[in-house]
Amino acid sequence: LACNSVSRIKALDAAVINRIAAGEIIIHPSNALKEMLENSIDAGSSAIDIVVKNGGLKLLQITDNGHGISYDDLPILCERFTTSKLSAFEDLNSLSTYGFRGEALASISHIAHLTVTTRSRDSECAWKATYHDGKLVPSKPGYTADPRPIAGKQGTQILVEDLFFNVPSRLRAFRSSSDEFSRIIDVIGRYAIHTDGTAFSCKKHGESHPSLITSASALTVDKIRVIYGAGVANELVRVDVSPDKNFGLLGATGWVTNANYSSKKAYLPLFFINHRLVSCAPLKRALSTLYTAFLPKGSHAFIYLSLMIATDKLDVNIHPTKREVRFLNEEEIIQRICDEVHKSLGSADNSRLYKTQT
Ligand code: ADP
Ligand code: MG
Repeated sequence: LACNSVSRIKALDAAVINRIAAGEIIIHPSNALKEMLENSIDAGSSAIDIVVKNGGLKLLQITDNGHGISYDDLPILCERFTTSKLSAFEDLNSLSTYGFRGEALASISHIAHLTVTTRSRDSECAWKATYHDGKLVPSKPGYTADPRPIAGKQGTQILVEDLFFNVPSRLRAFRSSSDEFSRIIDVIGRYAIHTDGTAFSCKKHGESHPSLITSASALTVDKIRVIYGAGVANELVRVDVSPDKNFGLLGATGWVTNANYSSKKAYLPLFFINHRLVSCAPLKRALSTLYTAFLPKGSHAFIYLSLMIATDKLDVNIHPTKREVRFLNEEEIIQRICDEVHKSLGSADNSRLYKTQT
């Protein structure tokens, strides 16, 4: 009476699990870039330079002048859930950094060839380390897996090559490298507009002129001009929403286009909540309803808004890509913002009327 049932449930290999998990966080090269950008900003960088080859699929290199990574941290840098930014669950309530889960570099190391070169202030040289599946590996067969000393300036360079090389189905799904490049430029532009005091540049590998460049001292409006054009920048009005303690709104500021500007192209609004780039569908909906009273049918405004919400009213940990956040009193806060945008649009409209009458 031998049992001829075959067990069908098997534990997956750790590398497979990690590769699947990585694919949930990193769908496009721009997702990997966003994580690395945030790391560079978290590190206090004042200059961030990016090089892209083949839409980021062949090569994605980001160089910053931030505080660097210390030698002792290099062995565990790419293990999952290793972070310098969060230690207790409660810390999620008072987070001032973008990162907190220690998943980004780990994920990248599972689906790409990853090389990190870094030098912290107190280090006498830079260190270069290569990672695969979360672990340090030799840069070439026959070498040791240790970080190797090299000359270099303070800061960090992350080199990601052959993204998705071991996920062929994902690779096949990409239509064109120029689509992926546009996504990358879009993400960099958004962070450049929002991050004061940091210069950004991005160029395609082998080209001498950058596709995007902003200076550390540029004003927000000038950055919008460089990235979205004078047509947008010349028609911006300021939005300033004062704090409302009852709803946990610490304030909101931004720039939106007035009724003189309308675009057939629907830019996704630039929303930052506590400095995180997010998509906030309810806010987007409310604002586009508001604009229908000001713009011709079927056209769109440019919107950049930065909201600060009390951290105990905000949940940043609801989505693997951290693309969405949730906050309490959403309706009330959105109403306050819409009222203020409405006021700004109204006054811009008046000034135009006034101008044309005289
Ligand atoms: P997280 O940002 O959630 O902590 P990451 O995987 O993105 O996780 O990064 C892991 C750790 O590596 C960070 O906590 C930080 O200490 C370090 N790190 C990553 N990138 C940089 C960088 N550009 N400059 C300095 N430190 C970095
Ligand atoms: Mg991070």
